[in-house]
Amino acid sequence: MKMKHISYSLWTAAFLLFSSCATTKIHDSAQQARPSFEMHEIESMVDVEKWIAPGVLVIFDLDNTLFESKDTIAHANWFHDMLKRHPDEEKKILRMAWDAINVADYEPVEEITPNLIRSWQDRGIAVMALTSRDLVIQEATLRQVRQVGVDFSKTSPARKRESKYLHQGILFASSNYPKGYALQKYLAESHFQPTRIILIDDLKKNLKSVGEAMGAVGLYYPLVDNKRHLEWDEANAEQLWLEGN
Ligand SMILES: [Mg+2]
Repeated sequence: MKMKHISYSLWTAAFLLFSSCATTKIHDSAQQARPSFEMHEIESMVDVEKWIAPGVLVIFDLDNTLFESKDTIAHANWFHDMLKRHPDEEKKILRMAWDAINVADYEPVEEITPNLIRSWQDRGIAVMALTSRDLVIQEATLRQVRQVGVDFSKTSPARKRESKYLHQGILFASSNYPKGYALQKYLAESHFQPTRIILIDDLKKNLKSVGEAMGAVGLYYPLVDNKRHLEWDEANAEQLWLEGN
């Protein structure tokens, strides 16, 4: 199993805190321990098992980590591709994506993932989701998570089962973006202090956001990107954009 390991020194973490994350609370006490952040690349969700231990909090990204869309426009690849190609059209791209997401069906990125989540939950491990999806597609999101056979509400560490941004164990970063900021607020309110946060995400920027805000083991999961050349039709994606205009 190939594994890349990236260690961030305390000074590097401090530099990143000051330089790139305006919403992250800066530690103002010399005595206060700075959060440690490490990032590893995993090839399969099975690899997560080695970090599972009593007291940890496992947090799943949704798009291109837990699941992916069967429909092209609802797929996270389409949104990211269109935003790169047409950076001035963000609102229209979002509207088209949301319309598609509202009716799209999803499947797990790896077939084994829902079973793994259930097995960790059965062992009493706290497992929840953290998505940057907007609340306007909340109902569709809840349906799609159920569709792949996952129920995060059983083990998310919340005092209240539902709040403005938490629904069925899924925290919507939404206007609380970036993810590190959203999670920091949520955990402070839930009074849950995990021994370690394990975040699985296909985007390194999200892993860094959480890791730098709170300390975490960030598991970078680029499986969808790695199979993109086999499964993703760029010309068709662009054609669908043109047809939507
Ligand atoms: Mg994602």
